[in-house]
Amino acid sequence: MSISREMAQDWIRATAQAMALNKDHLTQLDSAIGDGDHGANMDRGFQAVLGKLPSVVAPDIGAVFKVVGMTLVSTVGGAAGPLYGTFFLQLATATAGKTDLALPEWVAALQAGVGGVIMRGKAGLGDKTMVDALVPALDALKAAAADGASLPDALRRSAEAAEQGMLGTIPLVARKGRASYLGERSAGHQDPGATSSHLLLRAAAETWAGAA
Ligand code: ADP
Ligand code: MG
Repeated sequence: MSISREMAQDWIRATAQAMALNKDHLTQLDSAIGDGDHGANMDRGFQAVLGKLPSVVAPDIGAVFKVVGMTLVSTVGGAAGPLYGTFFLQLATATAGKTDLALPEWVAALQAGVGGVIMRGKAGLGDKTMVDALVPALDALKAAAADGASLPDALRRSAEAAEQGMLGTIPLVARKGRASYLGERSAGHQDPGATSSHLLLRAAAETWAGAA
């Protein structure tokens, strides 16, 4: 069971659709503890990505993710642009030259992507950021791989962990990013970036559910 280049592109298209459908929701979440631009930022970025995907000619999956990362860096802005840009550029490095990803290769790619977000943003678990969705998702993926789970099953467990991590940001007090300016008043609200990270990973689980 593995992820082909076409399936990698399908994931990106599904993510763009999820960001468009959830634009208002992400905006509402960011209005409560930030400046209300996260939905617009993510939707603008992924719509730009959709426009760039057809121009990727190289046969490897890394080339697809590289264009995604570069496009997000240049179009999303705010805190999330460089962070998601780094995420995809790290995914690109981890998948350079590969035309198929089996579960261990997807684990390595996600590890690189999440590592890039942490290096760049310096947020840890519990700081009420996207890291609170991404790290549990990576941990669940690794645990599933270690259990011998199938690729679709591992992806499902990873997306579920991202959802739990996203919901787990609600009571937290933000220690990074714009929401941290609110201090204690940031508690009681779900983090927008953790929410977009869940959408990203849920789209992977749904798109690749039939990976064969
Ligand atoms: P901005 O905060 O600049 O308006 P966005 O609204 O697009 O940018 O994104 C906000 C999200 O970015 C937050 O909800 C949080 O998840 C994430 N974020 C902010 N700072 C960091 C950081 N240092 N590390 C990881 N994620 C962060
Ligand atoms: Mg914002």
